[in-house]
Amino acid sequence: MAQEAPNLTQTVSGWAAHDISGKISPYTFKRRENGINDVTIKILYCGICHTDLHYAKNDWGITMYPVVPGHEITGVITEVGSNVKEFKVGDRVGVGCLAATCLECEFCKSSQENYCDQLQFTYNGIFWDGTVTYGGYSDMLVADHRYVVRIPENLPMDAAAPLLCAGITVFTPLKDSSLLDSPKKKIGIVGLGGLGHMAVKFGKAFGHHVTVISTSPSKEREAKERLGADDFLISTDSEHMQAGKRTLDFILDTVSAKHPLGPILELLKVNGTLSVVGAPDRPFDLSAFPLIFGKRTIKGSIIGGIKETQEMLDLCGKHEITCDIEVVKPEEINQSMDRLARNDVRYRFVIDIAGNSSKL
Ligand SMILES: [Zn+2]
Ligand SMILES: [Zn+2]
Repeated sequence: MAQEAPNLTQTVSGWAAHDISGKISPYTFKRRENGINDVTIKILYCGICHTDLHYAKNDWGITMYPVVPGHEITGVITEVGSNVKEFKVGDRVGVGCLAATCLECEFCKSSQENYCDQLQFTYNGIFWDGTVTYGGYSDMLVADHRYVVRIPENLPMDAAAPLLCAGITVFTPLKDSSLLDSPKKKIGIVGLGGLGHMAVKFGKAFGHHVTVISTSPSKEREAKERLGADDFLISTDSEHMQAGKRTLDFILDTVSAKHPLGPILELLKVNGTLSVVGAPDRPFDLSAFPLIFGKRTIKGSIIGGIKETQEMLDLCGKHEITCDIEVVKPEEINQSMDRLARNDVRYRFVIDIAGNSSKL
């Protein structure tokens, strides 16, 4: 269907998964011409997000093969459409999860286009012209400029790439709970992976007391010494968890493996909020008691709007916050995905798409 659209004239070199093995191999495909609202981006770096792994292996049953993953994209603009006033050739930019939204609903009109019910993702989505979207594991991207953000000059393009998904995913719930400008709150971060380590950095930058809650005692030193966490609770240690009861104002749960929520909720003060951004593939076990007896709230959050993403990047520039990364070559994508599946990465793989590893 879709890929027969007449304006698919630009040949792109990329990397795709072709079946449920999830194995990534070189793949040549076409992108649309640069339209009046588009910018063309020479891709320099692309982060490897856990979501890429799920799509590559069709874990959610919705993959359209071949799939070119990647939604943590940084690069340089090489062409701008006639309607585009905000960007020019040579600008350092990023593209995250969003490729298109309806632009008309209440969410699009209030800069919450991430909640538009017609949103289409940067890969494995359907663009306005009916074509399937292909992501950042490729050397060039044509993107609608309304979903493009600027990378601050002082941030390296490789370590900035994961801010486009991991960064905004944890930034938005902090902002939503008014934690950007009300310091000295006690916040908890459950899980210390790609998302969790960014949340610790934001929490410290915004002046909070940060407690990491993890199943791995081995992560305590790293959490405190490298990331600056103030406290560390081992979630499987009931004495630890007992001692932490009713101590936290807010908790962000980044864990995507199934885990009990009750003991985590008990750590919240009365009226505290647990925000969930990890997505276990099975339902939570949840007793009503920690909610009732503590007047606590559980809510969820998915990425962020474009305006909010720019706000996050600007704050990252101001506080010099980037992701801790391991840069890999395109030939190492499969090996990196295997390691990611085992959580063997600190804390994000980033593919050096343009092959220069320069600190642009
Ligand atoms: Zn992602
Ligand atoms: Zn909309």
